[in-house]
Amino acid sequence: MIRAKKVRLRPTKEQEKQLWKSSGTARWIFNWTLKMQEMNHRFDGKFIANNHLRKYITKIKKRPKYAWLNDVSNNIAKQAVKDACDAYKKWFDGRTGRSCLKAEKPRLKSRKKTKPAFYNDNIKLKVKAKSVLLEKIGWIKTSEQIPKNTKYFNPRVRFDGKYWYLSMGIEKEKSEQHLTGEVLGIDLGIKDLAVVSNGRIYKNINKTKKVKKIEKRLRRLQRTVSRKYEMNKEGNRFVKTCNIYKLEKEIRHTHRRLANIRQNHIHQTTTEIVKTKPSKIVIETLNVKGMMKNKHLAKSVAQQKFYEFKRQLQYKCEDYGIELVEADTFYPSSKLCHECGYKKVELKLSDRTYHCEECGYTADRDYNASLNLASYIA
Ligand SMILES: [Zn+2]
Repeated sequence: MIRAKKVRLRPTKEQEKQLWKSSGTARWIFNWTLKMQEMNHRFDGKFIANNHLRKYITKIKKRPKYAWLNDVSNNIAKQAVKDACDAYKKWFDGRTGRSCLKAEKPRLKSRKKTKPAFYNDNIKLKVKAKSVLLEKIGWIKTSEQIPKNTKYFNPRVRFDGKYWYLSMGIEKEKSEQHLTGEVLGIDLGIKDLAVVSNGRIYKNINKTKKVKKIEKRLRRLQRTVSRKYEMNKEGNRFVKTCNIYKLEKEIRHTHRRLANIRQNHIHQTTTEIVKTKPSKIVIETLNVKGMMKNKHLAKSVAQQKFYEFKRQLQYKCEDYGIELVEADTFYPSSKLCHECGYKKVELKLSDRTYHCEECGYTADRDYNASLNLASYIA
């Protein structure tokens, strides 16, 4: 079983320079590869094999003009060529009918819009007490210990706008857990993130004062920056002032902070649910696309990150050996009465309480749905 692991790096000033250099080279090589493919495609339409381009890079590195390519590990260029070739081939095969998947044409990575990232060879990656060895950069301190004496898969170094991280796959053994035999149903929603059939309610973090305050601040920053853009307009051109750069940096940091808060909340929720060690968990089949069509709900749905919730629940269940079941799309978990099984013809989104006309059973709408999910039989 392979698990993703992400640790924060604590580079020195000197090492940070090397990290920027490495990611800059990766971006340059990626773009160079795409341009080569594109140019070639325009002339005779064939795909250039990835090792062909790699040999070419080895050649140009000997020229003084490209000597700077030697400042970073050659594995960075090797992987960047492969990444670009893979992306281009996906699009190419879809276009020429060799694959039925229609992939989007890969775009050049822009300095501003793409997150700086590069690859480190997995064999060359070494780990010791709270530090990691990156090629041509040296031992960098990490904020936590990376498991030692194990295989690492596809290590990538990334900058998220504030810090540098190393992420990779790590082989992990399945742990033997004693499960309780209980079946849990989870109703996901907008009012609360998750209502569980054991009675636990996990709040919607986006409705908390803390998040609302940050969002308000973000909107204010965005207004200020667009006003500053208008003010500094020269004819049809926009000029970026120091102030604008500063504001844009603050906006990026605020976005990052919000994303982290949401992510942490989902982690805490999914961890707490699996830690009760039920034998089985039932969730609804997510129809996020359908929900997004409702323009009044789209934003709140996007902020709830249901797919991320499911992704985390999936791998955490796998770790514990918990069976995770998705109820059939047409299973009317909200409309059924958990007490007598009566099915309501209509239930409005605004009906927060479930009241059964048949047996008089009354319960919170989401709690009733979670109980129905718990008793779902596939
Ligand atoms: Zn009933």
